[in-house]
Amino acid sequence: MANLISGKEVSSYINDKTAAQVSELNEKGISVSLAVIIVGDDPASKVYVNNKKKACEKLGIVSLEYALPENTTIEELLALIDELNRRDDVNGILCQLPLPAHLDEEAVINAISPQKDVDCFHPVNVGRLYTGNGIFKPCTPAGVMEMLKYYNVEIQGRNCVVIGRSNIVGKPMAALLTAENGTVTLCHSKTKDLASHTKNADILVAAVGRPKFVSADMVKEGAVVIDVGIHRMENGKLCGDVDFDAAQPVAGYISPVPGGVGPMTIAMLMDNTVTAARIQNKVI
Ligand code: NAD
Repeated sequence: MANLISGKEVSSYINDKTAAQVSELNEKGISVSLAVIIVGDDPASKVYVNNKKKACEKLGIVSLEYALPENTTIEELLALIDELNRRDDVNGILCQLPLPAHLDEEAVINAISPQKDVDCFHPVNVGRLYTGNGIFKPCTPAGVMEMLKYYNVEIQGRNCVVIGRSNIVGKPMAALLTAENGTVTLCHSKTKDLASHTKNADILVAAVGRPKFVSADMVKEGAVVIDVGIHRMENGKLCGDVDFDAAQPVAGYISPVPGGVGPMTIAMLMDNTVTAARIQNKVI
């Protein structure tokens, strides 16, 4: 039976370190702040924004929320970002995605100053991630890396398989595992015979966006399985991209949903926000 990888435990370890850094900056007269922009009334986005606000409050980070109406124009949104980019009292800026269809997400991502881009979505920060000298870490994949580190999972030389190639999870996940000397295979919807790859994985990261997609027969005996997916089932309960009950007896380590990767994403966002404040205030 696999050992559990607890995102609750690892995120609380990261959050304690972040809170200590915030206190240290506050003692120097520096406050740490995150501006969160939300456009429209998407209920899921409202929940995410609220969770980020609560995390800020818990760690002593000032949270500035900008809730804009659905019919906000791109000019209005870019003007707000421009103002936040210029303000010395704002360290991090994020715009909750997805945006309403009439707003160009790429233009919005590109408008956020790379020095304040705590989601690590700006092309400059994405480029730095691949060259290995990034300031910020992409939150969800960085959270997975912290989980592996906390549980002393060796990455160097091991077969790492990532299912999913999105810009926010799969691709940066593969980059971070590569940077730690893993031998990485990036699988996606066009991959042929997916199981032949996953069965070879010492470390398997599922970011597919399909409930219980990874079955036990896709998992190598003793593998470390990290489940990034999150879905609400008809019975109201949450599940991931991995069939947890089936995979647990096969895996060596496995992260559950809920209580796995979920809490790590916000913890890493808070960590990036403190990093932004440190750099902007030259406290390195
Ligand atoms: P996405 O839809 O952008 O990407 C899914 C990827 O899965 C695609 O690259 C696609 O090629 C691949 N895929 C789809 N069907 C496949 C198949 N049959 N075989 C192989 N690959 C297939 O999703 P995303 O934004 O990367 O998110 C993935 C999951 O992670 C979702 O469930 C999402 O809710 C969750 N998520 C969780 C967090 C968190 O904080 N826990 C953060 C981001 C995303």
